[in-house]
Amino acid sequence: SIMPALLSAISSGARKGLLYKNGTQVEKMANVRVVAFDKTGTLTQGKIVVTDLVTFANDSHQLIQYASSIERGSEHPIAQAIVQYGLDRDVTLLPLTTMKARAGWGVEAEISGEHWQIGKPLMFSSLTDEIQETITKYEQQGQTVVLIGKEGHIYGLFALQDQIRPEAKMVISELRKRGILTAMLTGDQHITAEAIAAEAGIDLVFSELLPDQKVACIEKLKALHGEVAMIGDGINDAPALAKAQVGIAMGKHGSDITLETADIVLMNDNLAQISHAITMSHRLHRVVK
Ligand code: ADP
Ligand code: MG
Repeated sequence: SIMPALLSAISSGARKGLLYKNGTQVEKMANVRVVAFDKTGTLTQGKIVVTDLVTFANDSHQLIQYASSIERGSEHPIAQAIVQYGLDRDVTLLPLTTMKARAGWGVEAEISGEHWQIGKPLMFSSLTDEIQETITKYEQQGQTVVLIGKEGHIYGLFALQDQIRPEAKMVISELRKRGILTAMLTGDQHITAEAIAAEAGIDLVFSELLPDQKVACIEKLKALHGEVAMIGDGINDAPALAKAQVGIAMGKHGSDITLETADIVLMNDNLAQISHAITMSHRLHRVVK
């Protein structure tokens, strides 16, 4: 009978840090053809640090102060890195009149009646060749670049570095051995995404995606290759997790909405559990047949 096999799969999963929200999910991993990973915080550790600040204005201390003050209100790991960079340099955080976080873009805020923006380069309309070359230089090393500016003028550039999770390469090569495709779905810029994907061994890269484009991407992957499992941590991943055959959330630091939406939660944020989940579902499949 299926019951003892299912219970054994669930308990063995639980011991390894795999939480199934529903017993029917155990089996669903068996026919997954593509595993799609969010980049920041999922494929990478999400422990982002600022490695460089390039300023195009004269007072870099003040620019750091503005950047940290604006990012204070955002939960994004990039925001936390920039706030930390400011605190390490003893800046005093300024009061903001208004602050608006734009998912997948960055943050906009009013400081002393002036309109400030910090976020992805696409947030700014006119990039000089010099700025564009600097951005590309960092992105080719797998770093993420955010720009800060006021009233449309760019004043500085933060380069940020993240680390790939230590188990990522092994999991991705195991998936390949099983004939499963791997994909990266990220809001980050194309060059950065390609650099990280190459390091991890990911097959397909989809970059510069807004949250609803991640959903469209799941649909496209399904149409082309078959059932998709999507794994992510952020608010921006929740709709894609809901769309996928199996939605998987990073349990330790995943946002509430992502944990609620997921079918499976990786309690220890350990990607190796994905392989285990697939093994379990195949085992259960054999019992059912
Ligand atoms: P991912 O899919 O890799 O988790 P997001 O969709 O959350 O990335 O963000 C995409 C991009 O938007 C980031 O790479 C960054 O350039 C920009 N961004 C988002 N939030 C912020 C923020 N609070 N501060 C600066 N930039 C941000
Ligand atoms: Mg993320």
